[in-house]
Amino acid sequence: MANISMVDLQTQYEHIKPEVDAAIQEVLNSCYFVGGGPVKEFACELSGYLGAKDVIPCGNGTDALQIALMALGLKPGDEVITTPFTFVATAEVIALLQLKPVFVDIHPDTFNIDETKIEEAITSKTRCIIPVHLFGQVANMEAIMNIAKQHNLFVVEDNAQAIGADYTFSDGRRQKAGTIGHIGCTSFFPSKNLGCYGDGGAICTNDLELSEKIRMICNHGSKVKYYHDEIGVNSRLDTIQAAVLRIKLRHLDKYTAARQEAAQIYNELLAGEEPITTPSIATFTTHVFHQYTLKVTSGRDRLQKKLGEAGIASAIYYPVPLHLQKAYQHNGYQKGDFPVSEMMAEQVLSLPMHTELNRNIQIKIASTLKGFIKERAI
Ligand SMILES: *Cc1c(COP(=O)(O)O)cnc(C)c1O
Repeated sequence: MANISMVDLQTQYEHIKPEVDAAIQEVLNSCYFVGGGPVKEFACELSGYLGAKDVIPCGNGTDALQIALMALGLKPGDEVITTPFTFVATAEVIALLQLKPVFVDIHPDTFNIDETKIEEAITSKTRCIIPVHLFGQVANMEAIMNIAKQHNLFVVEDNAQAIGADYTFSDGRRQKAGTIGHIGCTSFFPSKNLGCYGDGGAICTNDLELSEKIRMICNHGSKVKYYHDEIGVNSRLDTIQAAVLRIKLRHLDKYTAARQEAAQIYNELLAGEEPITTPSIATFTTHVFHQYTLKVTSGRDRLQKKLGEAGIASAIYYPVPLHLQKAYQHNGYQKGDFPVSEMMAEQVLSLPMHTELNRNIQIKIASTLKGFIKERAI
């Protein structure tokens, strides 16, 4: 059997090749490579899909987060609360804008920010909370929005990993991930759930004043060409990527269902396998399984090595929580400050997860893994 990789974009492309090739060819024929019809149409279709008032496409997910914080008018020294158990981009944009990242530990079951610990991190300088919907399930947004309202804070959702997930409020109302906070940010990096064929990102909001400002910031702070009302950046989704994303958005719900089905199969195959725990899902959210992440309470690194030797890829997201990263040392955090994040960094192991998995591949992965446990090789 060939090696098993984390993602399989090749097979996915083969299935949509005629549609995607035609859409790209159309852009090539038009020679309209920046802006133009496909970018506007994609933004409109994505806002319809999400049920958000406005979507502003941009260059990538990191830019989306940075532009969101710029649009909120935060001042150097303002504090932004987020989780240390995320991709570095979340904290990076905070630091780049000379804001202060303030970390709050996570829930050990969902890996998302622990909303019960947010209030004790709020100071007179706190202006914003950035929950990250890690691995594909939504953080406790109802509680987070309530805290934000009480303390007059903005909420920017880092929705790079959970596009398409549904959040249910206690009154039964459902909303898509990324549309609940003041601003939602997402990434179309190729391996994300809605991935393009290069870099891409988007910002969404229901606040039309904010969206006008965001649109300006993406375009050098300009609404009328060569007149600059704000200091902005250059961050655009290019036309070829928009054309690809228009096609892939039509398949997103089917792709999500494929990931959820694959997760279900893993759950069955790996149930009750000490020292392994399969993912848990909070009651208020669906899970779109950007990652299928196990907790391995002992021997995680040995297990990963053994899987690798057997030709099965796996990944550790994330091996070092952000408060312990070298670049973030100046914030004065130390080992022991966020014990749950630190423990999870030592236990998590993500298995191959993508839209093209099938039961046979998963049986091979699970039986290899269970073999190592049985042999006490880990
Ligand atoms: C991928 C990702 C980003 C950054 O997106 P890019 O498009 O790579 O810039 C930000 N936050 C999280 C949680 C991500 O997974």
